[in-house]
Amino acid sequence: MYVLVINAGSSSLKYQLLNMKDESVLAKGLCERIGIDGRLVHETEKGKHSADTAMPDHAAAMAIVIDSLLDANHGVIKSKDEIKAIGHRVVHGGEAFAASVKITDEVEAAIEAVSDLAPLHNPPNLTGIRACKKHMPGVPQVAVFDTAFHQTMPEKAYLYAIDYALYEKHKIRRYGFHGTSHKYVSERAAALLNRPASGLKLVTCHLGNGVSLCAVDGGISVDTSMGMTPLEGLAMGTRCGDIDPAVVQFIMEKECISAQQAGDLLNKKSGVLGISGVSSDFRDLSSAANDGNPRASAAMDVFAYRVAGYIGRYAACMNGLDAIIFTAGIGENDCGIRDKVCAYLSWFGVELDPAKNAKRGEALDISTPGAKVRVLVVPTNEELVIARDTKTVLSL
Ligand code: ADP
Repeated sequence: MYVLVINAGSSSLKYQLLNMKDESVLAKGLCERIGIDGRLVHETEKGKHSADTAMPDHAAAMAIVIDSLLDANHGVIKSKDEIKAIGHRVVHGGEAFAASVKITDEVEAAIEAVSDLAPLHNPPNLTGIRACKKHMPGVPQVAVFDTAFHQTMPEKAYLYAIDYALYEKHKIRRYGFHGTSHKYVSERAAALLNRPASGLKLVTCHLGNGVSLCAVDGGISVDTSMGMTPLEGLAMGTRCGDIDPAVVQFIMEKECISAQQAGDLLNKKSGVLGISGVSSDFRDLSSAANDGNPRASAAMDVFAYRVAGYIGRYAACMNGLDAIIFTAGIGENDCGIRDKVCAYLSWFGVELDPAKNAKRGEALDISTPGAKVRVLVVPTNEELVIARDTKTVLSL
């Protein structure tokens, strides 16, 4: 049984076709520059196929995806009827969705209703849903929300210390993101540790372009670092993370910029890019730091210091810590950052095995045999969670 997973962004559409019999990936790809010119990269076990091809909108991109899946040379299916269901990544579910749901007209309207909480993400997610509806009418679709896993957070973790009326009126609160990733790696970690999730206190560290940490106690999210939007928390590639809120007004006045410009500055020109002036990519930062660039070193220091600080905070909030899990681009690949973060945590009983920490690509316990707190690297797989949820929600 084949499930198509769609992750639609403002000018991109990522897809994967999975065979749920063995959870293998038959094809995956990316439509980029939608609405500009259009570029497709499509990958199967036969190889990689790239093409520049017009994609005026998401519906056109979706037609190209289907054509690629059916193509005589680089296709993997004979008829689109072989696709039994479609799972969509939807960024914000607000308080309306604590789990994945089958998409109906009412669900679409509810996703639209919370769009002002994620104006850059939910509208393109909806466009992806509508494009699939157009090209594959009758194929059931499921929405899998980045925020859903965190709906178990207690009030003390999700309320901001502002006028309660603002929460009631506008639903201003912490929601958290990367939920599919935190859920997946926490479950994989419990399996790797050979212990039931119900008895574990974990901190999962999703360190990619976007960065978030999650305190997972007994298998559920009890706190997470991103907030109402994905701007709060850690220092990220281009996002500032935690900052004194008064700084925003101060910058606006001193630099004579609008609220929109301030938002752009904090989302797109801050984080490790802002500090270093070099790049948001940790490979570039490492090489600049190795070449003696002090701002690149400072950016990496700020990054690691904050991650370690949040781990300590969550250990306190959960009153215990069994394991730390690193995942996503930086978490899975950058042993230097893992080392830097863990060096702050020796008092907690964290100790890395340098040889294991240097390994790449597999799920692994990288701590020394006697370490009290285990440290694991677990590659994330958000598409697989979306495909599994799609199958479960539709009882396929
Ligand atoms: P996204 O949040 O876009 O899904 P990823 O999880 O793919 O991002 O992470 C992308 C980031 O991972 C890159 O910007 C880079 O900083 C980092 N990264 C990827 N590969 C490596 C590597 N080999 N060494 C260090 N950092 C890496």
